[in-house]
Amino acid sequence: MIQQIYPQVIHPFRYELNKDMQIAAAHFIPHEAAGQCANLHGHTYFINITVAGDELDDSGFLINFQQLKKLIHNRFDHTLMNDHTDVFSNTQAEHFPTTEVVARKIAEIVQAHLDTLPNRPTCVQVFVRESPTSYVVYRPKAGKQ
Ligand SMILES: [Zn+2]
Repeated sequence: MIQQIYPQVIHPFRYELNKDMQIAAAHFIPHEAAGQCANLHGHTYFINITVAGDELDDSGFLINFQQLKKLIHNRFDHTLMNDHTDVFSNTQAEHFPTTEVVARKIAEIVQAHLDTLPNRPTCVQVFVRESPTSYVVYRPKAGKQ
């Protein structure tokens, strides 16, 4: 894993946890404006997930790092993003697997899990690097994804 400085997110919580992961996945953007990106191609995504909260669970965790890996890496690594029709769509732009949407979906999946935890942590940022020169930062707004 390369060492990397990530953009900081301002939040009011006492604890902040960051989980890095790398996902090899393919996608295509089903829109003529996408140009070459409309063709099936692959990326090695570098993902950083930021979780924050004021309370820890019974184990002293905000959330178990392994759980985050299980939620995201196990689900998407070595897959075609477009095949995950429960997450992405090939007809609705807001659900195309662009880097922006991939970042938002990761935040939504993580937050849905965090909502089941008694200490109720919050996903405050998802960073997705698609290539050495391109990345997206998604920050959920309070009260909505
Ligand atoms: Zn791409």
